[in-house]
Amino acid sequence: MADGEISYKPLSGMVLPRFAGIATFMRLPHVAPEDAGGVDIGLTGVPWDGGTTNRAGARHGPRQMRDASTMTRNCHHVSGIMPYELAKCADLGDSPVNPIQLEDTLDRIEQHFRKIHEKGIVPLTAGGDHLITLPIMRAIADKKNPLGMVHFDAHTDTWDRYFGGALYTHGTPFRRAIEEGLLDPKRVIQIGIRGGLYGPEDKEWGLAQGIRVVEIEEYFDLGPDKVADLAREVVGGGPAYISFDVDGMDPVYAPGTGTPEVGGYSTHDAQRMLRGLRGLDIVGADVVEVSPPFDPSGATALAGVTMMWEILCLMAERVSQRSAVR
Ligand code: MN
Ligand code: MN
Repeated sequence: MADGEISYKPLSGMVLPRFAGIATFMRLPHVAPEDAGGVDIGLTGVPWDGGTTNRAGARHGPRQMRDASTMTRNCHHVSGIMPYELAKCADLGDSPVNPIQLEDTLDRIEQHFRKIHEKGIVPLTAGGDHLITLPIMRAIADKKNPLGMVHFDAHTDTWDRYFGGALYTHGTPFRRAIEEGLLDPKRVIQIGIRGGLYGPEDKEWGLAQGIRVVEIEEYFDLGPDKVADLAREVVGGGPAYISFDVDGMDPVYAPGTGTPEVGGYSTHDAQRMLRGLRGLDIVGADVVEVSPPFDPSGATALAGVTMMWEILCLMAERVSQRSAVR
């Protein structure tokens, strides 16, 4: 289909009821990455959980999140941002994956995001387990100007290896991303960290790199608005990635995930923090670890896509500012 024939806007619930039709992210048109030349923001899924060390199931996340996303509308109720007026948005489908081979999958995901990145499209991704962020960063990061990151999670995901020699799991992506020069640890903030450790040394590596770790106790002392201010300060004006693991939220709000940890922030506080990130130069983002087999009510998928909506509004505002400068 030629660029001019596509609206790049969601199908209205006033035209076709939200429960009808084929579910795409936010009811946007589905366009293959190869044909997405006119798109500014590409929503895409990575249906893969081969990096999961405990309870699998996040491979089913993108499909469930597409379904839940049909509930979203067009105008942000606080900021007033109307993302589809500011940026051309589309569902770019799912990344190719290989459910029985990890390293092949990392290559396939990287290739998928290279195609997207080469077209100047900003990717907003639904996972998948958290390892998927590594190949996304391999595709979009510029090693001469590495990414900063706002990382919402109960876990740092900077462990070294599992089971002796396994370098790639959903507990290691940010250690690898820092080692590979994709992420600048001094521009990384991790929000909501908690839960038992294998040992006290678990905390040391990230802090020694200069990561700003906001453990959940500090989060509750500061509150969401101040933590968002801190995040903007840490990440600064360079290219920024937002990675949102739904297990950063309390399992009361997001039970459907592989590695739940009690004592997290609420969905509303997560929304407030995301709203506080206006102005960052967001070059990509993901929401990961929604695991439908553990999410019988669908609440976690809804929480996940609501965070995608918050991020989409930030991205669209940023896209419109970039095109105004051009
Ligand atoms: Mn994680
Ligand atoms: Mn986690």
